[in-house]
Amino acid sequence: MEIRTRMAPSPTGKLHLGTAYAALWPYLFAKKNQGTFILRIEDTDTERSTKEFAENIIDGLVWLGLKWDGGPFYQMERLSLYKEKAEELIKENKAYYCFCSMRELEEERKKQAAADQSQIYSGKCRNLPKEEIEQKLSSGVDFVIRFKLPVERGKVKFSDLIHGEIEFDSQLLGDMVIMRKNGIPLYNFVVVVDDLDMKITHVLRGDDHISNTPRQILLFEAFNTPPPQYGHYPMILNQDRSGKLSKRTGSTALSDYRADGFLPEAIINYLALLGWTPPGDREILSKEELIQLFEIKNMNVGAAAWNQQKLDWINGQYIRSMSDEELTQRLQEFLPDHPIREKIAEVVPLIKDRIKKLSDFVPLTNFLFTEPEYEKSVFQGIYKKENLRQIMEKIVEVMEKLPRPWQKEVFEEAFRKFAEEEGLSVTETFQLLRVGISGQTVSPPLFESMQILGDQESVARLQKALSIL
Ligand code: GLU
Repeated sequence: MEIRTRMAPSPTGKLHLGTAYAALWPYLFAKKNQGTFILRIEDTDTERSTKEFAENIIDGLVWLGLKWDGGPFYQMERLSLYKEKAEELIKENKAYYCFCSMRELEEERKKQAAADQSQIYSGKCRNLPKEEIEQKLSSGVDFVIRFKLPVERGKVKFSDLIHGEIEFDSQLLGDMVIMRKNGIPLYNFVVVVDDLDMKITHVLRGDDHISNTPRQILLFEAFNTPPPQYGHYPMILNQDRSGKLSKRTGSTALSDYRADGFLPEAIINYLALLGWTPPGDREILSKEELIQLFEIKNMNVGAAAWNQQKLDWINGQYIRSMSDEELTQRLQEFLPDHPIREKIAEVVPLIKDRIKKLSDFVPLTNFLFTEPEYEKSVFQGIYKKENLRQIMEKIVEVMEKLPRPWQKEVFEEAFRKFAEEEGLSVTETFQLLRVGISGQTVSPPLFESMQILGDQESVARLQKALSIL
């Protein structure tokens, strides 16, 4: 049997981390089994869905490398199919027109609440005479189509791939609305029609959909087709475990992570570890390895919380494992407006071990591309004695006398010698020099940076530093 999975985002917001997470599992499972992964855009909530959000989701999935094999299918372009299927159920007496007004339903619910009964539709329109239905339809009375819950059905049981056996009492589900008069189908119905039409064999989705599953199973039964297998994984929690991952504790938009210099392969790797434990507790796994090793049965039943430090660490690991050429290329793509793009290649070996994300490159190396601003207090913080200026003058002299052509191999020795002659510590000397060159106390390796700056620029910078002391 061909394995067919789907990812069914609603385009009511930008692609967020939870959606990327939702795409990962059906993707991995389909790929692992040489199956088909389908992308379906569930845009029937016409008030909240937009084309822009759908495009943002699609772009994000492409960027992550979670490429689908079928779709994207937009539900709003498939309304005639849903109508046909709803009419089929009506014809078979498995669904019916309900003409109850909002007000009537509201009153009914109030009464039920007051009597402490479960608030489900009474079934008033279940058995209206044919003539009455015809007459109401032709005179344009507002209606919905409801699914006729099979009275004798009893418990709906299913074996969840992650949670195991789950059962619901079907009689508590009521006669659910499946379509409105305007022809727009409701969630549970449209999902079933599509899962059926797309021959989905495995539905992997968040456990917020467990309670929808019995309704969907009943609809599959009404269409005389066995339902797909379901697997409901836990949703990601906020870092402080205060609830489902939300904007409350930081951005959840994938595009913000992208703009911040996270790599798609690191995000995939990280998301995979949030929901699944790979054999041998490995932490760094390529997408190909994930596909190979993935097993639904090893998915976590308990919800994991977002862990930004872990993602930072994984991203850093990916950066370090890249060749210099590849990192250069990624940085050039990431920084299309960088003032000196050609210089990025020279700088990459100096910073590869020091950045966790691509955006760290800019603050760490900016001084190489633009003249630093100096602050006297920074120098005073390193060297506390009165003769700071004299010491800096001497450092400039050493610098000026360094042999040309300018070669980093001799810098260290020259300044060590200077430190010894002046009775300074090597650390102090190097730090003064570092601030003189970069304006900051933390920088990539000092002598390599001087090499990249060149002799004239290095001397000019020290002189400028001197002028503020
Ligand atoms: N559109 C639904 C969601 O975004 C899909 C649920 C499902 O996979 O059935 O939650």
